[in-house]
Amino acid sequence: MNFHGNWNMEFLGIPSSSKSCLHPRQVMLMSLHDQEVCMCKYYENVNMILDGLKNILPEVPKYSEDLLIQTVCTLNQAKRMDRECQACGIAKPLDELFEGIDENTATSYFQWETCEDGRVRKQKIEGTIADAKEDLREQLQPFGRYVYNIKRQYAELKYLKESLQLSEVIIHEDFAEILLPIQEQIQPS
Ligand SMILES: [Zn+2]
Repeated sequence: MNFHGNWNMEFLGIPSSSKSCLHPRQVMLMSLHDQEVCMCKYYENVNMILDGLKNILPEVPKYSEDLLIQTVCTLNQAKRMDRECQACGIAKPLDELFEGIDENTATSYFQWETCEDGRVRKQKIEGTIADAKEDLREQLQPFGRYVYNIKRQYAELKYLKESLQLSEVIIHEDFAEILLPIQEQIQPS
Protein backbone atom coordinates (compact mmCIF):
# COMPACT_ATOMS: atom_id res chain seq x y z
CA MET A 1 0.00 0.00 0.00
CA ASN A 2 2.73 2.45 0.91
CA PHE A 3 5.07 3.47 -1.88
CA HIS A 4 7.32 5.48 0.33
CA GLY A 5 11.06 5.53 -0.09
CA ASN A 6 12.85 5.84 -3.40
CA TRP A 7 14.09 2.32 -3.95
CA ASN A 8 10.87 0.84 -5.31
CA MET A 9 10.25 3.78 -7.67
CA GLU A 10 13.79 3.53 -9.03
CA PHE A 11 13.34 -0.22 -9.40
CA LEU A 12 10.26 0.45 -11.53
CA GLY A 13 12.19 3.00 -13.59
CA ILE A 14 10.06 5.91 -12.29
CA PRO A 15 11.83 9.03 -11.08
CA SER A 16 11.15 9.55 -7.37
CA SER A 17 9.99 13.13 -8.02
CA SER A 18 6.88 11.83 -9.81
CA LYS A 19 5.72 9.49 -7.05
CA SER A 20 3.30 12.04 -5.58
CA CYS A 21 1.09 11.93 -8.68
CA LEU A 22 0.93 8.14 -8.92
CA HIS A 23 -1.55 7.47 -6.14
CA PRO A 24 -5.24 8.40 -5.77
CA ARG A 25 -5.79 11.81 -4.22
CA GLN A 26 -7.36 10.23 -1.12
CA VAL A 27 -4.30 8.11 -0.35
CA MET A 28 -1.69 10.10 1.51
CA LEU A 29 1.99 9.21 1.40
CA MET A 30 3.36 8.22 4.77
CA SER A 31 5.96 10.33 6.45
CA LEU A 32 8.36 9.24 9.19
CA HIS A 33 6.03 10.97 11.66
CA ASP A 34 3.15 8.66 10.69
CA GLN A 35 5.20 5.57 11.44
CA GLU A 36 6.38 6.75 14.82
CA VAL A 37 3.12 8.24 16.10
CA CYS A 38 -0.01 6.16 16.21
CA MET A 39 -2.96 7.92 14.56
CA CYS A 40 -5.70 5.48 15.53
CA LYS A 41 -9.08 6.39 17.01
CA TYR A 42 -7.89 5.97 20.63
CA TYR A 43 -5.00 8.40 20.32
CA GLU A 44 -6.96 10.84 18.21
CA ASN A 45 -9.96 10.94 20.54
CA VAL A 46 -7.89 11.75 23.62
CA ASN A 47 -5.91 14.33 21.61
CA MET A 48 -9.15 15.97 20.42
CA ILE A 49 -10.53 16.28 23.99
CA LEU A 50 -7.27 17.98 24.99
CA ASP A 51 -7.51 20.23 21.95
CA GLY A 52 -11.08 21.23 22.89
CA LEU A 53 -10.00 22.05 26.45
CA LYS A 54 -6.95 24.18 25.63
CA ASN A 55 -8.85 27.49 25.46
CA ILE A 56 -10.17 27.02 29.00
CA LEU A 57 -7.18 25.11 30.38
CA PRO A 58 -4.06 26.68 28.82
CA GLU A 59 -1.74 24.27 30.68
CA VAL A 60 -3.46 21.15 29.32
CA PRO A 61 -0.92 18.82 27.59
CA LYS A 62 -1.11 18.93 23.81
CA TYR A 63 -0.61 15.19 23.31
CA SER A 64 -2.38 12.27 24.94
CA GLU A 65 0.85 10.54 25.94
CA ASP A 66 2.00 13.62 27.86
CA LEU A 67 -1.16 13.36 29.96
CA LEU A 68 -0.94 9.56 30.22
CA ILE A 69 2.56 9.78 31.63
CA GLN A 70 1.22 11.94 34.49
CA THR A 71 -1.17 9.12 35.46
CA VAL A 72 1.31 6.20 35.57
CA CYS A 73 4.61 5.53 37.40
CA THR A 74 6.15 4.31 34.13
CA LEU A 75 5.05 3.64 30.55
CA ASN A 76 7.19 0.50 30.42
CA GLN A 77 5.47 -1.89 32.82
CA ALA A 78 2.29 -3.75 31.93
CA LYS A 79 0.75 -3.72 35.40
CA ARG A 80 1.16 0.08 35.66
CA MET A 81 -0.35 0.54 32.21
CA ASP A 82 -3.17 -1.84 33.19
CA ARG A 83 -3.89 0.45 36.18
CA GLU A 84 -3.07 -2.23 38.72
CA CYS A 85 -0.61 -0.03 40.61
CA GLN A 86 -1.92 1.65 43.77
CA ALA A 87 0.68 4.42 43.66
CA CYS A 88 -0.38 5.92 40.34
CA GLY A 89 -3.82 6.76 38.96
CA ILE A 90 -5.94 9.10 36.91
CA ALA A 91 -8.00 10.90 39.56
CA LYS A 92 -5.29 13.04 41.18
CA PRO A 93 -3.61 14.38 38.00
CA LEU A 94 -7.03 15.15 36.51
CA ASP A 95 -8.21 16.95 39.65
CA GLU A 96 -5.00 19.00 39.62
CA LEU A 97 -5.40 19.82 35.94
CA PHE A 98 -8.99 21.02 36.41
CA GLU A 99 -8.34 22.78 39.71
CA GLY A 100 -10.04 26.16 39.99
CA ILE A 101 -12.05 25.69 36.78
CA ASP A 102 -15.84 26.16 36.81
CA GLU A 103 -16.88 22.68 35.70
CA ASN A 104 -20.27 23.99 34.46
CA THR A 105 -18.54 25.98 31.70
CA ALA A 106 -19.63 24.86 28.23
CA THR A 107 -17.08 23.23 25.97
CA SER A 108 -16.99 21.22 22.74
CA TYR A 109 -14.59 18.93 20.96
CA PHE A 110 -14.60 16.36 18.17
CA GLN A 111 -14.56 12.56 18.53
CA TRP A 112 -14.29 9.68 16.11
CA GLU A 113 -17.41 7.58 16.72
CA THR A 114 -18.69 4.39 15.14
CA CYS A 115 -22.14 5.12 13.71
CA GLU A 116 -25.07 2.70 13.30
CA ASP A 117 -24.02 1.88 9.73
CA GLY A 118 -20.63 0.73 11.07
CA ARG A 119 -18.74 3.72 9.65
CA VAL A 120 -16.45 5.79 11.82
CA ARG A 121 -17.26 9.51 11.63
CA LYS A 122 -16.00 12.62 13.35
CA GLN A 123 -18.75 13.97 15.62
CA LYS A 124 -18.92 17.23 17.54
CA ILE A 125 -19.47 16.65 21.27
CA GLU A 126 -20.99 19.52 23.24
CA GLY A 127 -21.28 19.62 27.01
CA THR A 128 -19.71 21.01 30.16
CA ILE A 129 -16.14 20.88 31.40
CA ALA A 130 -17.35 18.24 33.90
CA ASP A 131 -18.55 16.07 30.98
CA ALA A 132 -15.22 16.49 29.18
CA LYS A 133 -13.30 15.60 32.35
CA GLU A 134 -15.38 12.44 32.78
CA ASP A 135 -14.89 11.51 29.12
CA LEU A 136 -11.14 11.99 29.54
CA ARG A 137 -11.12 9.85 32.70
CA GLU A 138 -13.01 7.01 30.95
CA GLN A 139 -10.72 7.08 27.92
CA LEU A 140 -7.50 7.25 29.95
CA GLN A 141 -8.49 4.12 31.90
CA PRO A 142 -7.90 1.59 29.04
CA PHE A 143 -5.53 3.92 27.13
CA GLY A 144 -2.47 2.82 29.12
CA ARG A 145 -2.74 -0.79 27.95
CA TYR A 146 -3.30 0.37 24.39
CA VAL A 147 -0.17 2.57 24.39
CA TYR A 148 1.81 -0.23 26.05
CA ASN A 149 0.84 -2.66 23.25
CA ILE A 150 1.67 -0.13 20.51
CA LYS A 151 5.07 0.59 22.03
CA ARG A 152 5.82 -3.15 22.24
CA GLN A 153 4.79 -3.61 18.59
CA TYR A 154 6.98 -0.71 17.42
CA ALA A 155 9.93 -2.02 19.45
CA GLU A 156 9.50 -5.50 17.97
CA LEU A 157 9.26 -4.10 14.42
CA LYS A 158 12.39 -2.01 14.98
CA TYR A 159 14.23 -5.12 16.20
CA LEU A 160 13.02 -7.14 13.17
CA LYS A 161 14.20 -4.42 10.76
CA GLU A 162 17.59 -4.15 12.42
CA SER A 163 18.18 -7.90 12.44
CA LEU A 164 16.80 -8.56 8.95
CA GLN A 165 18.87 -11.05 6.91
CA LEU A 166 19.62 -10.56 3.21
CA SER A 167 17.23 -13.36 2.19
CA GLU A 168 14.35 -12.06 4.35
CA VAL A 169 11.66 -9.46 3.83
CA ILE A 170 9.23 -7.78 6.24
CA ILE A 171 5.66 -7.19 5.07
CA HIS A 172 3.89 -4.82 7.44
CA GLU A 173 0.18 -4.23 6.89
CA ASP A 174 -1.89 -2.23 9.32
CA PHE A 175 -5.22 -1.29 7.81
CA ALA A 176 -6.56 0.28 10.99
CA GLU A 177 -3.64 2.67 11.04
CA ILE A 178 -4.12 3.97 7.52
CA LEU A 179 -7.87 4.41 7.90
CA LEU A 180 -7.99 7.58 9.99
CA PRO A 181 -5.60 9.84 8.05
CA ILE A 182 -7.51 8.96 4.89
CA GLN A 183 -10.89 9.69 6.45
CA GLU A 184 -9.63 12.91 7.93
CA GLN A 185 -8.57 14.02 4.48
CA ILE A 186 -11.95 13.28 2.91
CA GLN A 187 -14.31 14.40 5.64
CA PRO A 188 -14.35 18.11 6.48
CA SER A 189 -14.08 18.69 10.22
ZN1 LIG B 1 2.19 3.18 39.71
